[in-house]
Amino acid sequence: MQERQTKQKQIIYEALKTLDHPTATEVYGFVHEQYPSVSRATVFRVLGGFATGGKALELRTAGNEVRYDYNVMPHYHAHCTACGRLADVCVEGLPKGGLKATTDCDFDLSGYSVEFFGICTDCKHGRS
Ligand SMILES: [Zn+2]
Ligand SMILES: [Zn+2]
Repeated sequence: MQERQTKQKQIIYEALKTLDHPTATEVYGFVHEQYPSVSRATVFRVLGGFATGGKALELRTAGNEVRYDYNVMPHYHAHCTACGRLADVCVEGLPKGGLKATTDCDFDLSGYSVEFFGICTDCKHGRS
């Protein structure tokens, strides 16, 4: 049983790396094609475990299903407004630190997350 769970975790982690910021449903679809015995509940549970265990990022974005990212280094994401995909972006000119809340909101900030919107490279070049 333990061994089977480890195997399932590996399969799900591989799917996460293969797919581009997938939702749990997309991971399930991918895994299920190759391993029909892996249940939807397992996929959701394992992904949740990756997120709490620091093996994956859980990306909660406005109005969308939660997406997962195996890249746990801090990085930025951009939504393509044409095809809806979420892509990694490198953005220049963002403050690296030293952010401060204004004194009227008494809050110690430790970080921030931003969501960018735009057109992905495939859509821009008409490839999708
Ligand atoms: Zn696109
Ligand atoms: Zn990412």
